[in-house]
Amino acid sequence: MENQGENSSSCRRLRVVMFPLPFQGHINPMLQLANILYSKGFLITIIHTNFNSRYTSKYPHFTFRPVLDNDSKNNNLSMLSSKGIDDPLSYNLMMINYCIDSFTHCLTKLLENEPVACMISDSVWHFTQSVADSLKLSRIVLRASSMSCIPVYATLPFVSEKGYVKTAIKNEVVVVPMTKKDIDKVYKGGPEDAKLDLISSTIKETKAASGIIVNTFKELEETAFLAIAHDFRMPIFAIGPFHKYFQASSSSLLEQDRSFMSWLDLQPVNSVVYVSFGSIAQMGQAEFSEMAWGLANSKQRFLWVVRPGLVSGSERVESLPDGFGEEVGERGRIVKWAPQQEVLAHKATGAFWTHSGWNSTLESICEGVPMICSPCSFDQPINARCVTDVWKIGVMLDDEMDRDEIGNVIKKLIIDKEGDEMRQRSKALQEKVNISLENGGSANQSLKDLVEYILSF
Ligand code: UDP
Repeated sequence: MENQGENSSSCRRLRVVMFPLPFQGHINPMLQLANILYSKGFLITIIHTNFNSRYTSKYPHFTFRPVLDNDSKNNNLSMLSSKGIDDPLSYNLMMINYCIDSFTHCLTKLLENEPVACMISDSVWHFTQSVADSLKLSRIVLRASSMSCIPVYATLPFVSEKGYVKTAIKNEVVVVPMTKKDIDKVYKGGPEDAKLDLISSTIKETKAASGIIVNTFKELEETAFLAIAHDFRMPIFAIGPFHKYFQASSSSLLEQDRSFMSWLDLQPVNSVVYVSFGSIAQMGQAEFSEMAWGLANSKQRFLWVVRPGLVSGSERVESLPDGFGEEVGERGRIVKWAPQQEVLAHKATGAFWTHSGWNSTLESICEGVPMICSPCSFDQPINARCVTDVWKIGVMLDDEMDRDEIGNVIKKLIIDKEGDEMRQRSKALQEKVNISLENGGSANQSLKDLVEYILSF
């Protein structure tokens, strides 16, 4: 953890209220940000849903306030929480509906008790802007995803004939060279209209906020920052990657299995493909089997996270295809949930096969690991396109899972010269991350600016 800054003593009296969206990929950055602000001297209150809140006991230095308590309509939420989430979009909409009253009540009570400098809410909690306005509280938005998503989302549903998203502001500047297929994937998982509504409301209320905090750094997404400068005129603080400020994240909702670490220690440098599709992505049994045989047939070493619920409709870790164990032997390991940042930092890890969630992408960049991208929905196709076409540190594997193609792509990254070149480019980005976080670097300066900004409210 960084030393507390020069503002620490004055900040210590100031409270910041934070409201994470209760999914792993949103909880992690919000709690990391809370730790960063705490280290700068701010007092922290986290408003949280009961759903997915089992991390709270790990943060005794924060105050926690629940919303959605004793809501009888909430049965659906608790039911979904034990299964895996088949339809994250409906789930988001349902939560927003349930939350509004309870959240407003909770925030009003907090403000009655003591002064609050500002609220930092996840950008998807778009309704919090009008609540903050009604209570005359400044709201800063946390974007838990890449900066590049904003110009793409702001341009939906338009895709130019050339198939990529340009910015309206700087003609011919391609922010992310999205294909039509990529855009279709953004919409996947729920009715298109509902998704577009959620995205539009998120963008609209982000524009109305007093500031934006992004888990990225300027040098990584320069074009995206340029593209939004005209439309988003509030201060933007790119202080990421957040997880680099601390040793490890303790906001994991699943228990991390470390039993494979001694196996990983024995594997040659850059020889293992780490495979994880994050906390929400799901697939059918046929895709799962194809993935298994792709890994087996590649003849390369792998560590595969198969979390409960990865295969739709199932709570158990899936049974693997017959003969898979014998074929793979000591070459592969399967775990339910891994200490991902540690795995990516391990010298044996040579590639990351990922669903391209933003945290996973950023964690991979921070360790200089090239990626195989299999994006599913939401922001993932945008992140994946940045990885493959902008930063050129990975390859896309976006069609139906096919064991031969999987095998070829894995070999490309682990064995071929092309994989090595991507690794070199990824290492160069890793270097930029480190420079950005050092004294005088862009993220370091942005954090100082953010502290000053909060103190100014
Ligand atoms: N993660 C982990 N162990 C695992 C798989 C994932 O700790 O076995 C963490 C990972 O480090 C990341 C988060 O879960 O911080 C997943 O976030 P991401 O944005 O990549 O994907 P999402 O789960 O939101 O789809």
